[in-house]
Amino acid sequence: MYVTHDPSTGRTDREYEQIRDVDGVLDTVTGGFATWRATDVAERARILVAIADAFDEHREELGKAITTEMGKLPDQAQGEVELAASIYRWYGEHGPALLEPESLDVPEARLNRVTYEPVGPLVGIMPWNYPYYQVARFAAPNLLLGNTVVLKHASICARSSAAIEKVQRAAGLPEDVFVNVYASSDTVAEMIADPRIKGVSLTGSEGAGAAVATVAAENLKPSVLELGGSDPLIILDADDLDELTETVGRARLSNCGQACNSPKRIFVPTQLEEDFLGRLKNLYEELTVGPAADEGTELGPLSSEDARDDVVEQVETAVRQGATLVTGGAAIDRPGAFMQPTILTGITEEMDAYREEIFGPVAMVYTYDSIDEAVRIANDTPFGLSGSVWGTDTERASEVAERLEVGMAYVNEHGTTLPGLPFGGVKRSGYGRELGRWGLTEFANVRLQRVS
Ligand code: NAP
Repeated sequence: MYVTHDPSTGRTDREYEQIRDVDGVLDTVTGGFATWRATDVAERARILVAIADAFDEHREELGKAITTEMGKLPDQAQGEVELAASIYRWYGEHGPALLEPESLDVPEARLNRVTYEPVGPLVGIMPWNYPYYQVARFAAPNLLLGNTVVLKHASICARSSAAIEKVQRAAGLPEDVFVNVYASSDTVAEMIADPRIKGVSLTGSEGAGAAVATVAAENLKPSVLELGGSDPLIILDADDLDELTETVGRARLSNCGQACNSPKRIFVPTQLEEDFLGRLKNLYEELTVGPAADEGTELGPLSSEDARDDVVEQVETAVRQGATLVTGGAAIDRPGAFMQPTILTGITEEMDAYREEIFGPVAMVYTYDSIDEAVRIANDTPFGLSGSVWGTDTERASEVAERLEVGMAYVNEHGTTLPGLPFGGVKRSGYGRELGRWGLTEFANVRLQRVS
């Protein structure tokens, strides 16, 4: 049974029955694959554009579903629906050209054509922090390619995952091409191991990634993992420190700090430390924290009370191990999953916080004397998702950004995601890429043949 709660109130929202007929679902998407792969790519693309239109049209109600189930502020929720729509649209409009067969000019070979073909039904395991966007990143390219999908969303996203299925079907996606299931981890493992499933993509934590990749490897199935991050954001200097602090401080709190690529570690030169921290502290102490749907709320709840308690415990451990708590650090005493916006400084190598991802409204601020030191600490993490460098001299900032061991390195911005750009990380942030042309071939048979 999935039980969902509204994290703004702590009240139970609804209960959902878990899947019983795994075999039936796998037969459905296998049958669906036979017809979907044979459907003209132009028709598949047309349906993706119709899905994009439907997401845009239902922006408000879809947004409300995630405000209720995981506490996203309404403007961020609707923004996410629009982003998901843009991904379906991008693949609908640009995908067919990217799937055109390629002729090879290799005189010594008799083989001269490459085509991109689907491999079959896939399982997509998705997290709750961006319920629509994460699914779109995986589903849109694979549906265009001709693969079929079983979606196993986070158990707290029972409402939005059902909504995704409904919107896609109403837009014309056949029922046997995309099936949403409520399933336990054991059932998911059973599905991945089944010969009818040809690959699995997971966005989530390291633990879930390792468990799923193990089952996939045991059964020789390809996998894509989009995992955690502890992104560095390095400030070199600033024209306007007020504006920069506001931008960076709010970026860290977007989605209540629960983004894989949130700038969790902020690096400030020693000479700016006092001015930056003073401004960030004021910003965080003056924010309006409250129920996600309330007008004027700037910081909503975390996704659940358990998630909130975990973050509070991480902060308490950091302080016990010697870090300085500049502000916040505690749960807010009211129903729901609220936590004070928090700033930690003085984090050193010996502390857990130095290595861990903190998935909540906590900015870890590091100060540095030399840029080499900042880059060394920025890279001294198990993760490698993204990172950014901010400065008035863009060329200099780009040079520093080149040194970051990440999948996505930004200059004077952090976390920009667009349908045509690759998304993914290195190290324990996972492997494989989503979005753009790169997302189209993760589960493709890149097929070589002679045609003459
Ligand atoms: P999570 O606990 O790993 O859950 C993610 C999904 O995996 C959920 O659907 C979950 O189902 C499922 N799951 C968990 N254990 C599993 C297992 N053993 N076998 C099969 N499925 C399993 O992660 P989360 O707490 O929801 O999400 C936060 C994490 O995701 C953070 O580390 C964040 O950085 C990362 N993330 C990464 C990206 C990226 O693109 N790199 C994007 C967003 C989030 P249940 O809900 O039923 O447990």
